[in-house]
Amino acid sequence: MIEFSIIALSGLCLLFTAHQLGLAEGKCEAARRLRYTLVVLILWPPATTLAQSQEEISVAKATLSSLQGISFNNNTEYCGYLAYDPAGKLVATPAQRGDNKSCVWDQAENGLVLVLSYHTHGRFDPEYSSEVPSVADIEADEDEGIDGFVSTPGGRLWYVDTERMEVRQICDIGCLPKDPGFVPGLEGEISSVYSYEDLLEYESD
Ligand SMILES: [Zn+2]
Repeated sequence: MIEFSIIALSGLCLLFTAHQLGLAEGKCEAARRLRYTLVVLILWPPATTLAQSQEEISVAKATLSSLQGISFNNNTEYCGYLAYDPAGKLVATPAQRGDNKSCVWDQAENGLVLVLSYHTHGRFDPEYSSEVPSVADIEADEDEGIDGFVSTPGGRLWYVDTERMEVRQICDIGCLPKDPGFVPGLEGEISSVYSYEDLLEYESD
């Protein structure tokens, strides 16, 4: 997206310069190209910034689904990364076991390019709010300059977007395996999007 914007802006500059120097094919042609470039610039961003690729979502779903059961049984977070292997295929790294509140992956990267984090949230605990990604979750991804996926005891899947600094619910209760002990509704209504400020407020409640 950023690269595209730079290319488009460079194109605009070239057109402008060419026009000033009288090198453009003609005012009409230059204006037509300018309009086309602007239309592309205006239409492009919404199509890309909000849409996680289906490939990313499906790899994240498969990976987190396979970790939900063991995460509930051990009441432990499991974490890892979605990454591109040397052949350019999107894969998930092996998961690492954390503890009941956190997880840090520190395995060898083995030629993988890590692009998105993933982690589970352990067993359902009525005393502990774990149906929404935490402030620490979004800050950790931000520190690494990546986005991430989070699964919850209720089987929700969240996308942690550190460009917009918000978390978005990709799918609701039960879209991933859920903890048999999960009781819906105890945490009140859960929104589908929380900004960073919302999360700070949510955690202070
Ligand atoms: Zn978390």
